[in-house]
Amino acid sequence: MAKKPARKPAKKTQPEDLNLNNIVSEQFDRAARFVKLPEGLLQQIKACNNVYQVQFPVKIGDRYVIFQGWRAEHSHHRKPLKGGIRYSRMVNQDEIMALAALMTYKCAIANVPFGGSKGGVRLRPREYNPEQLEKITRRFTAELIAKNFIGPGINVPAPDYGTGEREMAWIADTYDAFHPGHLDNMACVTGKPVSQGGIHGRKEATGRGIVFALREVFRQPEVLKRIRLSGTLEGKRVSVQGFGNVGYHVAKILHDEDGARIVAVGEWDGTVHNPSGIDINALYQHRAQTGSIRNFPRVKTLPNPGDSLEVDCDVLIPAALENQITTANMHKVRCRVLAEAANGPTTPSAEEYLLRKGVLILPDIYLNAGGVTVSYFEWTKNISHMRYGRLEKRLDEAQRSTLVRATEDLVKGRFPDRVRQSLVRGIDEEDLVNSGLEETMVTAFEEIWEIEQRLRGVRDMRTAAYVSAIQKVGAAYLELGVFP
Ligand code: NAD
Repeated sequence: MAKKPARKPAKKTQPEDLNLNNIVSEQFDRAARFVKLPEGLLQQIKACNNVYQVQFPVKIGDRYVIFQGWRAEHSHHRKPLKGGIRYSRMVNQDEIMALAALMTYKCAIANVPFGGSKGGVRLRPREYNPEQLEKITRRFTAELIAKNFIGPGINVPAPDYGTGEREMAWIADTYDAFHPGHLDNMACVTGKPVSQGGIHGRKEATGRGIVFALREVFRQPEVLKRIRLSGTLEGKRVSVQGFGNVGYHVAKILHDEDGARIVAVGEWDGTVHNPSGIDINALYQHRAQTGSIRNFPRVKTLPNPGDSLEVDCDVLIPAALENQITTANMHKVRCRVLAEAANGPTTPSAEEYLLRKGVLILPDIYLNAGGVTVSYFEWTKNISHMRYGRLEKRLDEAQRSTLVRATEDLVKGRFPDRVRQSLVRGIDEEDLVNSGLEETMVTAFEEIWEIEQRLRGVRDMRTAAYVSAIQKVGAAYLELGVFP
């Protein structure tokens, strides 16, 4: 009998590397080729300066549970260092180091004078009640204090995935208890409730910053031509993955203020989808009442959280976690703009594929910088011990009233009441915060776009954003004289 020809061994494809630290490192290297800095300095900018890893016990019910936490300090070229604290069962050292690096680049891009840091505790918040979460947060803060990894001039945490205002208030109070009488204690953490030294507009800041960036995209004829879209955000189809702090606020602002059509919202337990648009405020109420976005009336519930990434839309906003758009689902992504609200949602292979398809990717290190920008405003508010707008609001109102009256006298008429009210209203803290945020996002967009257009070989916004960041951090090091 003739021998059967030996079967060719199946070609093994390399599994995609999903380690965020390796991904950030690869992105850095790609951009560093375009920056003229000494090799040693580039290495220093890229390296994570130090990482604190801690295990600490907390009594939960009648048992002792050991928690693992991290705080990474990526770069000390500016101080204090800044970066959120996340609570997630997926937290690990590599992820925290990568997120700390992203914070360094993000601060540089947004011209926020901080170094980058990040922290996290490995836990699933849903498994603990508020009292237990308070104990865990206070104990983790005490561990950070013990090793000098927190302080208004040292390292200033903020909210991130799984944490919010409540946790920030506990951190501030714990720090205050350990440093009685220190005037600047409240500046040890940002993202606090307004009544606890927070700032108006911080909760919405990351989402609002994303909207400012998207509005800028729709103001740029060159960009619109590239992505084959026209007009404004009004009526544009938007899909959002993650309905937490960032995802909810970006969806709400786009829905309420820009008239965008939110066609899908994805959460960990499913996706709601309606091509005619979803009422975001009603969806928020529905989730508050039922504990889930599922079964929202008059919309289809798709079973998988990943479904929100695959619906037909103009703008796709992943606002949950990293590694959401990979080689496994990149072929199913159908959008013109991929707005990375989350950190690290797209893998390099998926990015390469989407860029080839002509998708505009607004990278995380630029797009979600609104949070740290307004955190910076909160920090300066805390060390100045004065609410923004307090000194000038009434004076501003008086001057506006004079101007409005003079105009009315001149034209011998009167503005309609609503117009008059808005003309004479003095600026308050939130107006100032939003104005500073818009200025930051628009300026950073212009800087990145200019690099993307000017530098031969750069053909995407992420590489351009990294180039911008590396140049700025490098310049700071050179000015400091570390690398003469
Ligand atoms: P959050 O905890 O408030 O919200 C995250 C939401 O995502 C939660 O509602 C969660 O249930 C949902 N989720 C989890 N897994 C999901 C899945 N597989 N599919 C769909 N939804 C899922 O966190 P956040 O503060 O909104 O942060 C979201 C992302 O934005 C993170 O990557 C974070 O690092 C980044 N970010 C946050 C801020 C900030 O100011 N909070 C600033 C910059 C960047």
